[in-house]
Amino acid sequence: MNTSVLKYYLNCCKPFHLNPDIEVKDITELRAEFLRERGIRGLVFDVDNAITKYHGIALDHKIAPYFRWLAGEFKSCIITNATPERREEVREMFRRDGLKMHVVDSNVRKPFQEPFTKALEYLGTVPGETAMIGDRLLTDIAGGNLAGMVTIKVAPLRRFSEPSHHMLARAFETFLLRAYQEEGHAVKTYLPRNYLYRITDSMPASF
Ligand SMILES: [Mg+2]
Repeated sequence: MNTSVLKYYLNCCKPFHLNPDIEVKDITELRAEFLRERGIRGLVFDVDNAITKYHGIALDHKIAPYFRWLAGEFKSCIITNATPERREEVREMFRRDGLKMHVVDSNVRKPFQEPFTKALEYLGTVPGETAMIGDRLLTDIAGGNLAGMVTIKVAPLRRFSEPSHHMLARAFETFLLRAYQEEGHAVKTYLPRNYLYRITDSMPASF
């Protein structure tokens, strides 16, 4: 790892960069109206543990109908740190699902900026009107924050489906963020957190 890469990672570990704009349990807590009110026009989704289990080959059954609906409401695409083979597997998953979904090709991993830039180019949106939705603080959230996107942290769908070194990294980044938040730096949700639930409560329970 060269010095500039190490410096970039260390910068990403700063709790300010790990702090998401919004934190929800899963994407079903997000409402289209809520996102539109915030000026969001494009969504960028992570895959593993955000919409599938780790290396899963099907959308998680709990969130699948809602994901399909949300992806139809907003311009959407996928960025993942997976290998080219895994990206192809994800494309095949969407094809099987009958879902037209662009999976960004990049040999550069999140939190580095190339995949975020490519996602913005595909969506045709600017960072401030684009939300990055993912389960990892050091990759999805830090990278999205550095790209100037609105960042939405979801809880991992199946945390024990991932390799142990991922669980250790997750524990480390979560420790850093929680310590930061305990010092009074709340999640940067622009609206009172219960606003999310108020909107949720007013929506038809069709998902
Ligand atoms: Mg993930």
